[in-house]
Amino acid sequence: MRTIGLIGGMSWESSLEYYRIINEEVKRRLGGLHSASCLLYSFDFAPLERMQHDARWDDIADEMASAARRLEAGGAELVLLCTNTMHKVANAIYDSVSIPFIHIADPTAGAIRADGIDRVGLLGTRFTMEDGFYVDRLRSLYGVEAVVPSPADREAVHRVIYDELCVGSATDESRARFRAVIAALVADGAQGVILGCTEIGLLVGPADSPVPLYDTTRLHAQAAVELALG
Ligand code: GLU
Repeated sequence: MRTIGLIGGMSWESSLEYYRIINEEVKRRLGGLHSASCLLYSFDFAPLERMQHDARWDDIADEMASAARRLEAGGAELVLLCTNTMHKVANAIYDSVSIPFIHIADPTAGAIRADGIDRVGLLGTRFTMEDGFYVDRLRSLYGVEAVVPSPADREAVHRVIYDELCVGSATDESRARFRAVIAALVADGAQGVILGCTEIGLLVGPADSPVPLYDTTRLHAQAAVELALG
């Protein structure tokens, strides 16, 4: 089994999910007392969140690259960045380590294509929904068209992620708001919806959507186990 390196803490609420899903998946495949061999580099999210909102992406890239290098030096044999948003600086990680880096959009797109659909809604932070790095990768590498919510809905989703989900809160009111956003995406032709933020699965699940949901946390964690055991 290869050792999985996790760049986490963004937020730690979702890093916990990664740790749980990766271990559950290893246990499911290998049985008995098997569990994952992994390393976690967990950031203090507060200064990074400030940098995001101040558009200091070069500084963020340096931080992510440094974490990836530390994981590689510590023995990680593959690396995951446990947040969709920070994939805005994914190239800094590709450039800084020689171990495989699994881009979170790749297993997500793989699952979408495996279901035979090519038009999906995308929920995530404002950066993920608006900055192009995510939508462009889905389109150019996989032929998947991602539609995003209206400006007002994007604002609401972004706010719930930072003010609630990343601090461990999941309210019925926010769940109802997300259900309405998902319904609007479906009305706009989405055949599925990407939960493109690693905390959204803590708020909504299949019962909240008339179309399949693609939970990036789960798909990313499962892809890591696949590579670690493959
Ligand atoms: N975990 C979130 C994501 O997947 C948001 C936190 C962040 O900005 O990194 O995008």
